[in-house]
Amino acid sequence: MVILVTGGAGYIGSHTCLELLRAGHQVIVVDNLCNSSREAVNRVEKLAGKSIIFYQADVTDEAALAAIFAQHTNIDGIIHFAGLKAVGESVVKPQQYYYNNIVGTLVLSKMMAQFGIKNIVFSSSATVYGENEIPFVETMSLGVPTNPYGQTKLMSEQILKDMAVAHQEWSVVLLRYFNPVGAHESGQIGEAPQGIPNNLMPFISQVAAGRLEKLNIFGNDYPTPDGTCIRDYIHVCDLAEGHVRALEKLADKSGVHVYNLGTGQGTSVMQLLTAFERVNQLHVPYTIAPRRAGDIAAFYADASKAERELGWRAVRDIEAMCRDTWRWQTMNSHGYD
Ligand code: NAD
Ligand code: UDP
Repeated sequence: MVILVTGGAGYIGSHTCLELLRAGHQVIVVDNLCNSSREAVNRVEKLAGKSIIFYQADVTDEAALAAIFAQHTNIDGIIHFAGLKAVGESVVKPQQYYYNNIVGTLVLSKMMAQFGIKNIVFSSSATVYGENEIPFVETMSLGVPTNPYGQTKLMSEQILKDMAVAHQEWSVVLLRYFNPVGAHESGQIGEAPQGIPNNLMPFISQVAAGRLEKLNIFGNDYPTPDGTCIRDYIHVCDLAEGHVRALEKLADKSGVHVYNLGTGQGTSVMQLLTAFERVNQLHVPYTIAPRRAGDIAAFYADASKAERELGWRAVRDIEAMCRDTWRWQTMNSHGYD
């Protein structure tokens, strides 16, 4: 298949492009590089030994997108990763988040209708469940996200669901990611946050590397066995494989298809920190800090639907996630720069 990947230079996008190439698909990337580097795409090409068609363009730029779709009349499907994703920043800059993430989804759906493209896979998030019972199951009523970022995921899901009603031949796949971590085992591609990381794993890894002084654990008084929050960490390569599997199984199967991509296992902040220290044989200083606003005590996926229907499940464990993160960190101390 010929797949147009928006946000393909980013963290999850780059790993997915590699898997797509490995599975024999052709890849066209559209990315404005607002949170990524062209070098990530170069490295994916080297790892795969195949080339990618790359456009530095903004998915909210309708004219630019129309020109790309007009140029490539053989596109079979879209994977839509492009979006802004920092929860805290979305509270400070809601207009930017709603504009970028919602208009991007709207422009892409317009392009699909205009150019007769029937398949789209969308990067959603476990945040759409809000504060539900755990584990989160696809059939649950969705919750109320506590920040503009989460709202953009909920709204984009709704836009695509409505488009699928109006275009009954479309296949819309909504993939709800849990907590992606890790890096490709080559150490060539990984997560390269700009500035101080917001997320736990890159923060731990930068403390271990001596770039940051210590980890702040946001609360140890949650109702969990060790008092720290529990999440479902999933290796980014498992996530990438999940996309390829979803695309191959569901292309041209009309309707809306929703899947959790998680491991089904919960790991606490303290357990992740201890595993990182043990696996990589190093010490990560930490301090207990106040709770972070908006955090939920514990959530993890019911990942059984993806296994049952797609024949996909996450196979890499927490140790692999910690080892691969650290390999990427030590081989690329300042990301792609
Ligand atoms: P990322 O920031 O590394 O990748 C996003 C990519 O999109 C970047 O390369 C960025 O330059 C590009 N981009 C952003 N806005 C764009 C626009 N208007 N036009 C063109 N390109 C644009 O983030 P990621 O972690 O790889 O996340 C990919 C997707 O998965 C995002 O939609 C994110 O919300 C979603 N997601 C991520 C997580 C996570 O924890 N990483 C969890 C759930 C969902
Ligand atoms: N966390 C932490 N210190 C940090 C970053 C995160 O203690 O510097 C905690 C956070 O409170 C949450 C968990 O780690 O309980 C995962 O946070 P992350 O931001 O990685 O993902 P989220 O689940 O919030 O999307």
